[in-house]
Amino acid sequence: MKAFYAEEQKRHDPKAFLSSGAQKPNPEKPERVERLLVGAKAAGCTIERPRDHGLGPVAAVHTPEYLDFLEHIFARWQRIEGASAEVIPNIHPIARDGSYPASAVGQAGYHMADTACPISGETWRSALWSAWSAIEAAEGVMSGAPAAYALCRPPGHHAFADVAGGFCFINNSAVAAQTLRKQAARVAILDVDLHHGNGTQGIFYARPDVLTVSLHADPVRFYPFFWGHADERGEGPGLGYNFNLPLARKSGDAAFLEALDVAFQRIRAFAPEALVVALGLDAFEGDPFGGLSLTTQGFSRIGEAIAGRGLPTVIVQEGGYLCDELGDNLTAFLTGFGGGKR
Ligand SMILES: [Zn+2]
Repeated sequence: MKAFYAEEQKRHDPKAFLSSGAQKPNPEKPERVERLLVGAKAAGCTIERPRDHGLGPVAAVHTPEYLDFLEHIFARWQRIEGASAEVIPNIHPIARDGSYPASAVGQAGYHMADTACPISGETWRSALWSAWSAIEAAEGVMSGAPAAYALCRPPGHHAFADVAGGFCFINNSAVAAQTLRKQAARVAILDVDLHHGNGTQGIFYARPDVLTVSLHADPVRFYPFFWGHADERGEGPGLGYNFNLPLARKSGDAAFLEALDVAFQRIRAFAPEALVVALGLDAFEGDPFGGLSLTTQGFSRIGEAIAGRGLPTVIVQEGGYLCDELGDNLTAFLTGFGGGKR
């Protein structure tokens, strides 16, 4: 299987992170890339650099206001006297239907959901290359490859059409799905990250052409708190095209695979022509977030189960944080996927 990644994706190096009010080092470290590259190569992937795909495929799922903000906010922030080294909001609108602020501080609050997505001078470029990796993988599948892996970093599934959040800026899985839509009438996104894919859900919430399915730790007491509940089913023409499967904290392989079967039932009934897997590896029992308790073998079985669907598949890297097994877990998933019944 081909894997796509560009060196520029490593330049974004966020420092700030607030967790339960405490300042901690940001866990979305560039070193993740090194571990994931080793893991992908161990599974037999060849690593290729994506092409420059311009803004078009990104603008297909994000607003121009937001993309302009992402590209220019760092330079504007630096002109504020006494401003922090990274763009971090200190105020958010409690509703987003009011006026659009002109100031850098106001716009940061408008376009950033939380304090986990600080923006530096490298963020825009890294996020754009990350999205281009996803596009390249989608185009590979559209050209006939049964599957491709996009080593996306920074990740994307918490980014909405006009909001960054949770280490995410451009929604790579959404960009991949929208790219696949050029050929496929219906695309399903299966998100197996520990956290609910709230940005992806938001982008497609009113659309019946992209089914969004997410398995994740129950948000009733877990990030992203306000999204990911079972009663969120879509709206308007998209009603019935969003499916959330929240899992009890510390759920292991058996519970996850059982929920995956339920997810597949829904996906089968949607009859998609292509699949995007939002592959978080942070549901691992040894991940620093500690929300679920999957094993390395569990990732292999998940990969095998997904491959068994026989759909053209774009695998997009989402979360998964530094622990000794991070690379092994990717190898296990990709090997399981390759060993499936395709
Ligand atoms: Zn996650």
